[in-house]
Amino acid sequence: MATDDGVPLVSHWIGGRATEGSFARSGDVFDPSTGRLAKQVAYASPADVDAAVAAARAAFDAWRVTSLAERTRVLFRFRELLHARADDLAAIITAEHGKVLSDARGEVARGLEIVEFACGAPHLVKGQFSEEVSSRVDVYSIRQPLGVIAIISPFNFPAMVPCWFFPLAIATGNTVILKPSEKDPSAANWLAALWAEAGLPAGVFNVVHGDKVAVDRLLEHPDVQAVSFVGSTPIARYVYETATSFGKRVQALGGAKNHMVVLPDADLDLAADSAVNAGFGSAGERCMAISAVVAVGGVADELVAKIDKRIRGLAVGDGRGESDMGPLVTQAHRDKVAAYLDAGVDAGAALVVDGRDHVVDGDESGFWLGPTLFDHVTPEMSLYTDEIFGPVLSVVRVATYDDALALVNANPYGNGSAIFTNDGGAARRFQNEVEVGMVGINVPIPVPVSYYSFGGWKNSLFGDSHAYGTEGVHFYTRGKVVTSRWLDPSHGGLNLGFPQHE
Ligand code: NAD
Repeated sequence: MATDDGVPLVSHWIGGRATEGSFARSGDVFDPSTGRLAKQVAYASPADVDAAVAAARAAFDAWRVTSLAERTRVLFRFRELLHARADDLAAIITAEHGKVLSDARGEVARGLEIVEFACGAPHLVKGQFSEEVSSRVDVYSIRQPLGVIAIISPFNFPAMVPCWFFPLAIATGNTVILKPSEKDPSAANWLAALWAEAGLPAGVFNVVHGDKVAVDRLLEHPDVQAVSFVGSTPIARYVYETATSFGKRVQALGGAKNHMVVLPDADLDLAADSAVNAGFGSAGERCMAISAVVAVGGVADELVAKIDKRIRGLAVGDGRGESDMGPLVTQAHRDKVAAYLDAGVDAGAALVVDGRDHVVDGDESGFWLGPTLFDHVTPEMSLYTDEIFGPVLSVVRVATYDDALALVNANPYGNGSAIFTNDGGAARRFQNEVEVGMVGINVPIPVPVSYYSFGGWKNSLFGDSHAYGTEGVHFYTRGKVVTSRWLDPSHGGLNLGFPQHE
């Protein structure tokens, strides 16, 4: 599909086919490496969302009673197709997000892990059975799907974050509406077409594009049973409060400020490599990116020198080439991140490496900002207080382990934190005392594998359930307990007393 100007149009995917919907509003999609307009994306009206919900609701009745064997057969076929065509999806991600191809392939690989986990759904939804809890009475539990699930995802992982949710939602018998970020929408449609090829019935997986208008209708729609949201903290809080007020089950994952504590006994080469990888991979546009290095007890000078040296060797350029780091997602986001550099200098932080000076191998109209390093950052500076979501790494100097822990725990976010040390006792203490949902010990980006669950604490997650793993299975199902008795000739007569076990 294309607009009247010949620009390719990213349409919705409703009831098993691409559709423009009402097409009253649309947004621009850019190639961040060239700065050029690449596509237009249709923005769903409330009526378009209603059409998607109706399709998902209609598909639910048949999908929920489709046998587990058949559901998982579709899952396995989807897994095979995704595995075989991972490079195609990675290329779409790089073209719209800007992250380098190797990073995009890594994103697809981590999404694939969740699909593989969901292939085990028959085991995951098994209930329990207690025989003879009373005379000839058995009790058993079952888990059943909820209905229509809305998934609202951010720009920074256009494939992996949706994959945190929809494989399990579908495997457990629900139907789905995905509302991806309007900044890089094409991956969602590619995934929808792949589902169709895998044999998923029409209406089980739908995609609507758009902005707040589409999100608001999903949050209030009476036929949407649950919402899985990932995005910035203010929107996550809004989504949680709004959707719960309409009686829905909600998990809303928010923003982050991830710390990496480096103790004096750490391997500083490992720490420097990790800080650079986790600080500047995907241009810092990761919810698990390290943005604050907390240098404890005199390691800062040597650590900063090592990070500085590594940064200067990074190749920044078009993600389709040989670069280490690509552009930022939009010009507006690039300018917002760059403004923090001036704010940091004004606040008195030491600008060690200025990303604006980095020589870039790419079109001059791309949304470029090179890796930036600040030292002597203090907790009241906006460099520290704000989630910058760009290639800006701040070093905060503290005297002791206790100071480092107090700093991390005072932060309103609680997504991930890492400690670098060779002292097992210190690492053990940190894992116990730090107030975050995911902890790395000499691992800078501790994203849990698919059979654990992903999620932060405090302002990084609103709701009770983390994503995927067994928490994901529970989020998309509700429990039912059955107490059953098959009468035999010995059953008694009337008894209006409260049932007791004989
Ligand atoms: P965002 O909050 O701007 O957008 C997220 C989603 O919400 C998008 O689909 C968007 O269309 C929608 N949205 C935007 N404004 C809205 C509004 N006013 N009302 C209703 N919906 C709205 O986030 P983003 O910029 O796309 O993504 C980056 C953010 O996501 C960062 O804060 C990052 O930390 C966070 N993130 C968190 C995790 C996690 O696991 N905690 C993972 C990835 C990204």
